Amino acid sequence: MVTSAVLGFPRMGVLRDLKKANEAYWGGKLSQPELLAEGKRLRLAHWKIQKDAGVDSIPSNDFAFYDHVLDHIQLFNAVPERYSKQGLDTLDEYFAMGRGHQKGGVDVPALEMVKWFDSNYHYVKPTLQDNQTFSLAKDPKPVREFLEAKEAGITTRPVILGPVSFLALGKADRGQSVEPITLLPKLLPVYVELLKALKAAGAETVQIDEPVLVFDLQANVKAAFKPAYEAINALGASAPQATIATYFGDIVHNADVLPALQGAHALHVDLVRNPEQLDTVINALGPKQTLSAGVVDGRNIWKTNFKKAIDVVQAAVKSLGPDRVQVATSSSLLHTPHTLASEKKLPAEVADWFSFASEKAVEVAIIAKAVTAGPDAVKAELDANAKSAHSRATSERTNNPKVKERIAAVAAADYARKNPFSTRYEAQKSHLKLPIFPTTTIGSFPQTKEIRVQRNKFTKGEITEQQYDDFIKQEIDLVVKIQDELGLDVYVHGEPERNDMVQYFGERLDGYVFTTHAWVQSYGSRCVRPPIIVGDVSRPAPMTVKESQYAASISSKPMKGMLTGPITCLRWSFPRDDVHQSVQAQQLALALRDEVVDLEKAGIFVIQVDEPALREGLPLRKGTEREKYLQWAVDAFKLSTAGVEDSTQIHSHFCYSEFQDFFHAIAALDADVLSIENSKSDAKLLKVFIDEAYPRHIGPGVYDIHSPRVPPQEEFKQRIAEMLAYLKPEQLWINPDCGLKTRTWDEVKPALIHMVDAAKLFRAQH
Ligand code: GLN
Ligand code: ZN
Repeated sequence: MVTSAVLGFPRMGVLRDLKKANEAYWGGKLSQPELLAEGKRLRLAHWKIQKDAGVDSIPSNDFAFYDHVLDHIQLFNAVPERYSKQGLDTLDEYFAMGRGHQKGGVDVPALEMVKWFDSNYHYVKPTLQDNQTFSLAKDPKPVREFLEAKEAGITTRPVILGPVSFLALGKADRGQSVEPITLLPKLLPVYVELLKALKAAGAETVQIDEPVLVFDLQANVKAAFKPAYEAINALGASAPQATIATYFGDIVHNADVLPALQGAHALHVDLVRNPEQLDTVINALGPKQTLSAGVVDGRNIWKTNFKKAIDVVQAAVKSLGPDRVQVATSSSLLHTPHTLASEKKLPAEVADWFSFASEKAVEVAIIAKAVTAGPDAVKAELDANAKSAHSRATSERTNNPKVKERIAAVAAADYARKNPFSTRYEAQKSHLKLPIFPTTTIGSFPQTKEIRVQRNKFTKGEITEQQYDDFIKQEIDLVVKIQDELGLDVYVHGEPERNDMVQYFGERLDGYVFTTHAWVQSYGSRCVRPPIIVGDVSRPAPMTVKESQYAASISSKPMKGMLTGPITCLRWSFPRDDVHQSVQAQQLALALRDEVVDLEKAGIFVIQVDEPALREGLPLRKGTEREKYLQWAVDAFKLSTAGVEDSTQIHSHFCYSEFQDFFHAIAALDADVLSIENSKSDAKLLKVFIDEAYPRHIGPGVYDIHSPRVPPQEEFKQRIAEMLAYLKPEQLWINPDCGLKTRTWDEVKPALIHMVDAAKLFRAQH
């Protein structure tokens, strides 16, 4: 019989209940027992949803108050001493590692948090010592939560992060030099003890995640799988049957590792992302090993196409027989919102195309049933699904002939500026008349409480559009006046009208829809609610011209227009799964191109197209796939910006400065000016710009906008001097790291005064 499995469920609850509870606890408004009780309530609710859906393997220990990798740091007693010595109780120690702790005489910063593979989720990095030891925590969480479910009458499959991934995703602590994977012999006995404890508690199955298998692995990490799984498989019946799970990529390039995993009960692979790996994986399975087929997308919000998914599962059944195939979500459902049932405002046509976590749990059960009992057993569901797929494929939203015509008419010349940078620079010099070391900011100025209040009133219809527009104008008046006083060289309008840098554009483009409750966890208690690209994207009317034009009309200096780039619009939305992302990027690029040209017509001759998400879209492995992505991503940027005259200056912005891995792509953008986050990084990172003889202009951030601190003028001078070791004076722009929307005016004004004064000092010397 083909069974069904979910690899993990979102933790937040219907109304971001976990976020609210955590934040109330941190703010001293909820007691620890109350927070723990809320966690329990959420876990039980989520198990019940999956049980009612008919899922056979329901995950436990997928819940985390902050992050599941952080859970494992405590589970293995791998807590760095700076936290463990503080005398905090277990939960507070846990939050101290996740978010820092500054209370009651204790002051420790958080552990490093980084992106979980190529998702928008962030995990806390295991931070290890040269003399690291491990032991199993008292009352281990996976056992506790398994028993909690059992008591509620629900048999679960605990999820644990595998030993190789736990170490490979970690790093040596500051001042330590240990290579994490070398700690495996010390860590393995703890896994053995944990697995035995799970079995003793009654767990018959366990999911061991080894997602690092989708990476290109260093030889010693690769080699670690053999001893790790020899030790685990040797437990035989004294441990639960293990499903080893991989996701977000294929594992074919690590096929030589698979024999080491053959002793495990099952192997899970992501067949949404990489369906082509099916045959290779089937051939690499052990003679009795089960395939867990990830056919329901854990990363997106689309209804699964049952016919396609059933075909994949049936192909596996044909080779392996029904008892050796399980239908599963491609990954944990952590990356999808909780339930579609909360969305009351979606157009009905579109709502029928979606499936969030609760609905995806039903889908795995239906697919398993369709394969086991035959299509007639779920005829109504299959018919409804086919109807929905047909409606989506034939909808006017997904088939906009005007967009298709426009794309077909794009010519090679549309991707290139009229002339090379040297010519453009001359034209820009005489047109813009900027001094050397020009100063500017990245776009947003403080989003004050008043701005949020007025926006809210406007959204609720409590003030008219005219009143709101007038208010925005006043805000623009204010920031222009402040920039006059500060003596900046290129102004911005401050972005007071923007709720979010992607949503704002999505709301003005055809092809997007918005949800009211579809939040996904980004890190800790922070959630994002990405807009959804449902159809062909086009721009019905100018989106930013009114504000920029008004701002320019009252400014004595060049006003910079401000747009979010095509890749960032794509990456920070839920993309379509029925057309390639490169096509969506191209459609977005054409819409933005029109905006860029309209801004220029309106007298805006400096235009910044932000692409902070360019790097996070990089495929996980180097090689062809990554190069292909960079090719279409760079093309999209160029298509969006190349429509202007030589004398119009195109800027782009990135919230990081590590370009070593893909510098050729950054250079290929051909932006006249780049601004990058750099104030906390080593100026040495700029060396790549000289090494690669980068000819264009750069503004490495000199002001850390994440901190309330006002840097003294001396610090700005030092930073600028450091940068001049790597950049020519005429290349250097002076600007903050990023937009200033999260800061207050009290912080921003003095900091910018120092910044401008420092620039003037250097200007006087050159
Ligand atoms: N222009 C945007 C701002 O200043 C850029 C934001 C970003 O890079 N994340 O807010
Ligand atoms: Zn930024």
